[in-house]
Amino acid sequence: MSSNSDRVNIAHRTLRQAIIEQALKAGTKLPEDEIGRHFSMSRTLVRTVLAKLQAQGLVDTYHKRTATVAQPSLDEARDAFAVRRALEREVVKAVIKRWSPATEKLLRAHVQEEEAAHAKGDVRLSTRLAGEFHLKLAELAGNALLERYLSELVSRCSLILAMYSRPHSSECAINEHSGLINALKKGDLPAAERLMDEHLSSVESRALLEDDLAAEADIGSILSRFSARVAG
Ligand SMILES: [Zn+2]
Repeated sequence: MSSNSDRVNIAHRTLRQAIIEQALKAGTKLPEDEIGRHFSMSRTLVRTVLAKLQAQGLVDTYHKRTATVAQPSLDEARDAFAVRRALEREVVKAVIKRWSPATEKLLRAHVQEEEAAHAKGDVRLSTRLAGEFHLKLAELAGNALLERYLSELVSRCSLILAMYSRPHSSECAINEHSGLINALKKGDLPAAERLMDEHLSSVESRALLEDDLAAEADIGSILSRFSARVAG
C-alpha cells in the first residue's frame, strides 16, 4: 500500500500533466469525490492535491465550490511571462557559472527527446518537453527557491500556451533551445541572456486569444489514461 504522500504525488503529477496538455480543458470541474474515487484517496488528501495545483496556477478553487481547471486571462498570461523572463535571466547567469560537460550532455539529451516528439508530430508531448527544458535549466542553476518559483511559472505558462496558442511547429523552439546551449557552452553571458529573452518573447507571442472552452469531459477516462503514463 502506498503512503499518503506517494498518492498525493501521483495524483498531483497525473492531474498536472492532464491540465498542461489540456486533456482537461480550462474551466473543467474537478469534483473532489470523483478524484478521490479515481486515486483511492480521502477528500482531505484530494484537497491537498488541489491546493498544490492552485499554487502552480493550474486550478481555481473557490470557497465551498467545486475546483475547476484555471482559465488565466490574457493580462494574467502577460504578467506570468514578464516574471518568467526576469527569473530565467537569473537562471542563465547561474547555469553559465556552473557549466560542465555533464550539464551539456543532459541538456543535449533533452533536446533530442524534443526532436523525437516533434518528428512524431506529438504536439502535446512537444509542449510538455519544451517546458521541461526550462525546468532542467532551473534545476542546474542550483538555487532551490529560484527553481521552485520558476517551476510554478513554467506550469502556468504551459497552461496559457495550451489554452491560447494555435498549433505551431515546435521546430523553431527546439532550434532556439540548441542555440541557447551553444551560447552557455561558450560562456557568452550577453548572448545567452539575449537568446533566452528572445526565445521567451517568441514563445509568448505564439499565445493568441482563442476562446476554446471545452465541452464537459469524462474526467474518469481522461485520468485513467494519464495515470497509466505517470505510473509507467
Ligand atoms: Zn523553451
